[in-house]
Order: sequence, then C-alpha cells, then structure tokens
Amino acid sequence: MRQTDLNKKVELLGCDVNKLTMDSALEYSQNLIAAGGTGHVATVNVSMLMAMRKDPELKQYIQNSELTLADGQPLIWLSRILGTPLNGRVAGIDYCAEVIKLAAQKNYKVCLLGATQCVNRKVQNKFKNLYPDLEIVGSRDGYFSAHEAGAAAQMIADSGADILIVAMGSPRQEDFIQSHWKTLGVKLAIPVGGSFDVWAGLRKRAPIWMQQAGLEWVYRMSQEFRRLAPRYAITNTQFLWHASAALFQLKFPKGLRIFMPKSKGENI
Ligand code: UDP
Repeated sequence: MRQTDLNKKVELLGCDVNKLTMDSALEYSQNLIAAGGTGHVATVNVSMLMAMRKDPELKQYIQNSELTLADGQPLIWLSRILGTPLNGRVAGIDYCAEVIKLAAQKNYKVCLLGATQCVNRKVQNKFKNLYPDLEIVGSRDGYFSAHEAGAAAQMIADSGADILIVAMGSPRQEDFIQSHWKTLGVKLAIPVGGSFDVWAGLRKRAPIWMQQAGLEWVYRMSQEFRRLAPRYAITNTQFLWHASAALFQLKFPKGLRIFMPKSKGENI
C-alpha cells in the first residue's frame, strides 16, 4: 500500500483514525511485516474513544499506533456526520482473524496472550484446526500481576513471535504492549479485547444485522449485563454529548464560542 493511503486520517473527537478498508489494513500489515518493520495496532470503539480522554497512557498508545482502526460503527456515523467519512468499519476481531490467516499462509509466527488458560487453549486449538500450518510459538493466560508482566514479556521475546495478539481487555492490553514494547521483539501487536472468549465459544458475536446497525454493544451487554451496562451507560452518554458538541461547533463555529472564555484581545 502506498504511504499516502496510510497518511489519510480522519480526526474524531481528538483521535486520528486511519481511513482504511479491511483489505488495505491487511495489505499494510503484510507489507510492514515483510519489510521487517514494527508497529502496534489500535482498534478504537466508543468506549476507548471516551476512555482516552481521561487516560494519558491509552491516548499515547493510540497516537503511537502504526494503524488506528475504526472498530465501532458509531465512529463511521460520526465521521459521516462531521463531513469527513471513513471508508468503513474494520472490526478488530475480524481484522485479527484475517491476520492469523495471513500468518498461516506466510509462515509468520504467532503468540497468543490473554484470557483464562482454558479459553486460550481453546483458541489455539481452533486456529490450529483451521490452519494446520499455523505456527503458534508462545501462549499464556492474561491473569498475571504487574510483578509477573516482565516475565510474560520475556516469554514472548524468547518465543521469536512475529505477531502478538493480546486479549486482556482495554486498557490492560494496550498498557502491556506499550510498557513492554522494546522487550517484545514482535513485528505486529494487536489488542483484541474479548475476542478470545468469542473464538472459544464462551460468548456469542452479535448477528450481522446488529453489527451493521451499530448495536453490537447491546448484544454484548445482554450477555454480561451487570458488568457492561454501567460502562455503556456512561461512555455512550459521553459520546453523544461530545459528538453533538463537535457537530454544533462545525455548524456554528462561532456559536459555541460564546460559552467559552474569551482569550485576551479577542473579539467574538
Ligand atoms: N482478561 C485477562 N486478564 C485480566 C482481565 C481480563 O486476560 O486481567 C481477559 C478476559 O478473560 C477476557 C478479555 O480479557 O477474555 C476481555 O475482557 P473484556 O471483555 O473486559 O474486554 P473488552 O473487550 O471490554 O476490552
């Protein structure tokens, strides 16, 4: 992929998202690995977009990412409403599954970090069954203390993996990748949240129509109501507020400024 394609970014509430399709994201990832480059991926949804406003480490992780993908459909809607449309959604779980397929085809070594030991094993078995040539050179569950994180990073480095997939929930997974980036020695690192649970059959993915309607979160919430309802109630409300403010500012650039403090010598 041409570098200019990657340079095309859309700014959404302070987050620069790459204007990519699934195909161009995969092509870029393949070229990066083939050329011996290194980088980590950010898969941004509404929760992350709101979380990064209060979490400087998460913000830094996203800003330093080689690829920032629009994981959630609401980001696509927002980009359209703001007049800077993204090319479409690149869901992290789908992108990662395609990267694993690519790894099997190109003999890239993979390391799977995260979830419980049982779920992690099921994911390994699933992909080994799908792609018998896939080389999974390292794995471990995602339940370790801060004290053990260095050893987990060293295990990954020693495995010689090209691709690291981390399923420990956000921002834990991004923090791990960022804190240990220099040790890991991988070419590509992808955080995938709860994807291992889906691949292991522990949780179900929302039907396609719900994914397309931007309702994947409703389906997820129905499976883990107590844990996810408070999270979505807060982040969705914040998102609506910030998205409305951005739209208002776009339509009435001077209108919103009457609510803001005047800077010295400024005449609004
Ligand atoms: N998880 C983990 N270590 C932890 C906490 C969670 O590996 O310390 C795993 C958990 O087993 C699950 C995954 O992280 O497979 C995703 O968690 P969550 O649903 O919170 O992630 P999200 O998709 O919401 O970021």
